[in-house]
Amino acid sequence: MVIESRAPSCEANRSRDAGGIILGIESTAHTFSIGWVDGLGVPGKSVSAFVRPVKGGIHPREAADHHAKHAGNILQELLDNDVQLQDVKAIAFSQGPGLGPCLRIGASVARSLAIQLNVPLVGVNHCVAHIEVGRERCDCDDPVLLYASGGNTQVIARLDGKYRVLGETLDIGIGNMLDKFAREQGIPFPGGPKIESLALEWLHDNPDPSLEGLELPYAVQGMDLAFSGVLNAALNLVEKGVPLPAVCWSLQEHTFAACVEVAERAMAHAGKDELLLGGGVACNERLRSMCQIMATSRDSTSHVPEKFLCIDNGSMIATLGRLQLLWGSETPLDESGVRQDLRTDETPILWN
Ligand code: AMP
Ligand code: MG
Repeated sequence: MVIESRAPSCEANRSRDAGGIILGIESTAHTFSIGWVDGLGVPGKSVSAFVRPVKGGIHPREAADHHAKHAGNILQELLDNDVQLQDVKAIAFSQGPGLGPCLRIGASVARSLAIQLNVPLVGVNHCVAHIEVGRERCDCDDPVLLYASGGNTQVIARLDGKYRVLGETLDIGIGNMLDKFAREQGIPFPGGPKIESLALEWLHDNPDPSLEGLELPYAVQGMDLAFSGVLNAALNLVEKGVPLPAVCWSLQEHTFAACVEVAERAMAHAGKDELLLGGGVACNERLRSMCQIMATSRDSTSHVPEKFLCIDNGSMIATLGRLQLLWGSETPLDESGVRQDLRTDETPILWN
């Protein structure tokens, strides 16, 4: 693989004015959100509604029904408080990857708005949006991204004009694994934050903790990861009577270490000295601190955007939509169909 010279600074992106507001619509999975950026890329607030299944995982059709039910009110709330329709310059939406029925709700809202306002439509890649909102907000130019969300876990770097997936989960996303573990313990979705607080509880009661008796499989396979085995092993520990806070702590230690190890190898292979965290699991303070420790030990830097920009949100879709608009990558109506299986490395990176 040819490794291009360093990516140009993203500062150049901020000096270009798109001439108005870009709306961004997110609907890949559990979140329906509309957010915006101004012409210079400064994000405004996103208004969001989240599917919270009481039992089981996310059902695509039920999530789509939820999105359809909330879309009108969310748009209205944004128009009542933040955005004037006459200032809107373009409509960006998550074109993929994601759950088909959910994506189609966002795409339909986006098409209707673009036609009604007679402004361009910009279909964006959800995974690339996580990267670009992080680059813009954290002032890092050419990072390795550790993208740790509900449905995705990928280690990504910009090589030869595209964001390449250097390593990824071979089964479920790390967030889904945490949510499934939590669900089995009667903890509602999203389980990650509660697991974090239980792990902290264990640390508080055991300031010098040991992994003895709490060992779990360490699921790194080359540059890839896997989380199903570790999930089953953690469930077995609880069944054997090991205290839940101890298992939560061990689960975080094992799986976060695996992610950070792959990210470090990616930085070494790709010759990058910035690490960027993204996705909902990037809200976790332990994962943030492990990344910081690893980056510092390599004379590198670790970055993470504000928590409201880590979870899925409309403003990150608007951030990428603005870049594509500035670099002439609009989406004609007849090419605006959703792409459930869109890969991170299918999107050409035209901007700085
Ligand atoms: P996303 O799919 O990017 O919107 O992120 C949602 C996922 O992030 C869910 O699986 C959550 O359980 C997870 N998550 C959110 N906050 C935390 C946290 N503090 N620690 C671990 N996971 C989290
Ligand atoms: Mg996401």
